[in-house]
Amino acid sequence: MQQELLDFEANLAKFLDCKYAIGVADGTAALEMSLAAAGIEQGDEVIVSSHTFIATAAAVHHMGGIPVVADCLPDSMIDPASVKRLIGPKTKVLMPTQLNGRTCDMDAIMAIADQHKLKVVEDSCQAMGAAYGGTKAGLFGVAGSYSFYPAKTLGCFGDGGAVVTNDDDVAARIRQLRDHGRDPATGKVTMFGRNGRLDNIQAGILSIKLAHYDSAIARRRAIAQIYQDVLGGRIELILPPAPGTDDKRFDIFQNYEIQANDRDALRAHLSGNGVGTILQWGGWMVHQFDDLNLRSDAPYAEEMSMRFMMLPMHHMLSDDDVVYVCDKVLSFYA
Ligand SMILES: *Cc1c(COP(=O)(O)O)cnc(C)c1O
Repeated sequence: MQQELLDFEANLAKFLDCKYAIGVADGTAALEMSLAAAGIEQGDEVIVSSHTFIATAAAVHHMGGIPVVADCLPDSMIDPASVKRLIGPKTKVLMPTQLNGRTCDMDAIMAIADQHKLKVVEDSCQAMGAAYGGTKAGLFGVAGSYSFYPAKTLGCFGDGGAVVTNDDDVAARIRQLRDHGRDPATGKVTMFGRNGRLDNIQAGILSIKLAHYDSAIARRRAIAQIYQDVLGGRIELILPPAPGTDDKRFDIFQNYEIQANDRDALRAHLSGNGVGTILQWGGWMVHQFDDLNLRSDAPYAEEMSMRFMMLPMHHMLSDDDVVYVCDKVLSFYA
């Protein structure tokens, strides 16, 4: 927790236009500490999306809560109607995942939270810099979490994360939790915390990469537009909404996730032509890990799990690379 960390925290808060950005060990630690700061207690139910990383549900579990799994919409974001159906007397927190660099329908989520007096803790690990109605992902509820895992849009050289918030008390709590519960002024332990610090060396790397982040995002959006221009008309595919299709949202395209007919055969065809693709979460939605026995209401997500896949998306892809991928997708369906 030396100068490089303090500098990065200041740089990140400035970039996001928020009061506090606190560097932590990784995105999962950010989620757990955010839930703790939201005051989650043993047995509280937290509504999460079916289309999210296991870390979202695991963070709830490890903080003593019970993850309850809601359905998603065709754009992969949590379905507010499903969230409403799952609210019961034990529901305490809504935990939407800002997936693939896009934001959920935050007007609907915040309205549900207000109406039922629930807290909101965002899993915004995939959405650093994405915005909805001018507010950046991570800054809607009690706290938001980012991951700087190397595969994320802003990656460090190992594991890293951050919690962001505009709330003084939440920020103070996170600072203390990440450093073994020690009061930063006196060093006295006044609560049980953990080793949840962001390494100084990672913070230094992140400050340098953050200075180039806007251009990396602009490039990702340009790549998404090429995919849209070439593949947009195909009835065999559902593409993510193109950049600028929605006045409210600014998407950063952490991933370019599509739904495709004959998905597995398409993947084999692409692979045979030198194009790597990935199934997010290994192809399972979070409630499809049977051994975890999670309560869910997610029939659409189950259908989606047989059709979803990610096409190459990275700021270093050339236009020709992207057109090549599109050609191979088109030759498969031809
Ligand atoms: C990456 C990710 C996390 C966890 O981040 P780590 O830094 O790997 O702990 C949590 N949620 C989502 C949606 C993610 O994509």
